[in-house]
Amino acid sequence: MPHGSAFDLAIVGAGICGLAHALAAARKGKRVVVVDRDRQANGASIRNFGFITVTGQQAGACWQRAMRSRDIWIEVAAAAGIPIQQRGLLTIARRPEARAVLEEFLQSDMGAECRLVEPPDLPGFGAGLRWREFAGALYSPHEVRVESRDAIPQLAAYLAERHGVTFLRDTVVHSAAPPRLETSRGSVEAETVVVCPGDDFFTLHPERIAGYGLTRCKLHMMRLLPDSFDPALPAIMSDLGLVRYLGYAEQPAAKALRQRLEAEQGEHLHNGVHLIVVRSADGSLVVGDSHHYAPTPDPFNPTGVDDLILDEYARVFDGPPPSVGERWIGTYASAPDRLMLVDAPSDALRIVIITSGTGASTSFAIAEEVVADLFG
Ligand SMILES: Cc1cc2nc3c(=O)[nH]c(=O)nc-3n(C[C@H](O)[C@H](O)[C@H](O)COP(=O)(O)OP(=O)(O)OC[C@H]3O[C@@H](n4cnc5c(N)ncnc54)[C@H](O)[C@@H]3O)c2cc1C
Repeated sequence: MPHGSAFDLAIVGAGICGLAHALAAARKGKRVVVVDRDRQANGASIRNFGFITVTGQQAGACWQRAMRSRDIWIEVAAAAGIPIQQRGLLTIARRPEARAVLEEFLQSDMGAECRLVEPPDLPGFGAGLRWREFAGALYSPHEVRVESRDAIPQLAAYLAERHGVTFLRDTVVHSAAPPRLETSRGSVEAETVVVCPGDDFFTLHPERIAGYGLTRCKLHMMRLLPDSFDPALPAIMSDLGLVRYLGYAEQPAAKALRQRLEAEQGEHLHNGVHLIVVRSADGSLVVGDSHHYAPTPDPFNPTGVDDLILDEYARVFDGPPPSVGERWIGTYASAPDRLMLVDAPSDALRIVIITSGTGASTSFAIAEEVVADLFG
């Protein structure tokens, strides 16, 4: 047994879900080991926007978890030296129907610190928006954005160095039944286990996971290289996001917006395209995305889907679309009826899967709940 000492908690998966559980347990003084098959982070957690989204999350538990997770991100980013790249969100309403959704949202509890912005006031947020063509916008102060491909390794290093978390990489976990994990590099003993497998439904406890009817979602992402982009601008979304993000899409006015979008941007909706634009320290933009569902998503990214994303970009920003510096796809777990799941096969074992595109925004809070439940 290469790792002789017993741990209080073993975590399978070093994505944001696993790291969040490591943080929550380490903060309680627990001895934690994180095991991952990859040498470096390679899953959804480094392929996303790094956008910690509060406004737009579904009302209730998801929105509350996003708020709590956002607070933890700010604390941890400061402690771990992870730069916050952007703050806030400007959700553009290109159509009156979209503005109506934003107005209803503002009447809800979730709208408390947000505000409606009239088009002539939009240049005050930064240059480059086609504001004369908009019906308004909603500004939310809640969001923060990190550069995931750097932030996730930085978070892992912080957990190792400052909280004494042990990381076993290049190590596949074949079975996870506390008090023991069987891995490709021997057994690991731990009182409790949390499995955070991302969208791997088949390696550990497949019979439990099968009960949730999960599938996988494939997303197209791009890094654009603008000649210039106003660094003052917050993260940007637009009408298409208002029928996808449940905090907006569950407002009554979203029905009329959806009808209009079906008539005018049916191809975008068919490909699950909506617009998120966030900015990186070097001035490049992470822009996406699309949603295609399949148990085994194909690995191809047809340029036609990227063109739909760029089309929406061009309707929001002035000038020709910037050149594309990178393209990639990501996948995440998706459930028909829930945004996340916590399964408890035994008192000492939990399976935690974020079954929607919300893991960067909610994992820290979910992990606090799971760790509190496991350790009392
Ligand atoms: C393109 C894209 C954009 C997104 N945008 C956002 C966003 O803006 N905001 C937001 O909140 N969320 C976003 N998401 C969703 C978010 O990224 C995911 O919900 C989150 O990263 C899931 O984290 P995870 O740790 O569960 O999974 P992952 O990051 O996939 O990590 C799972 C890890 O488990 C390991 N593993 C699995 N099984 C085993 C095993 N048996 N043995 C060893 N290791 C194992 C894998 O190697 C992997 O490292 C986006 C996702 C994608 C793909």
